[in-house]
Amino acid sequence: MFLKAMTIAAMSLAGSVAMAADCSFTIEGNDQMQYSAKEITIPAECTAFEVTLVHTGKLPKATMGHGFVVTKTSDLAGLSSAGLAAGAANNHVPPGDARVIAMIPLVGGGEKASVKIDTSKLEKGGDYSFYCPFPGHFAVMKGKLIFG
Ligand code: ZN
Repeated sequence: MFLKAMTIAAMSLAGSVAMAADCSFTIEGNDQMQYSAKEITIPAECTAFEVTLVHTGKLPKATMGHGFVVTKTSDLAGLSSAGLAAGAANNHVPPGDARVIAMIPLVGGGEKASVKIDTSKLEKGGDYSFYCPFPGHFAVMKGKLIFG
């Protein structure tokens, strides 16, 4: 009796957690230099959160590439300007920079790519942002990332 009750309790707990948290998000970038979202919320239950970036435009990566970089909001301006010196070969992000929490390399029109964000790198209630590292896109292609 006791064991059976425990099993049912464990099963319903697992079921409710799986239902409560959607640990993925798709964001689009277009030829008008816009993201489809200004804010992404990662539910507190997610240990990993998958972001997929879909470039819905037609322009090539070299002229209208879009990427996705997650950093602390306090590092946003510094990281994006440091990226300008890193060049296209590095997706305009300084290689190995500790300020990068997660990133998706540049994609061109019709392409997509994903990244899994390890949420153990995020503090609940911390102030995070995402942005596109392509030169000149930072001014408009950025948003808030909220965890918890
Ligand atoms: Zn872009």
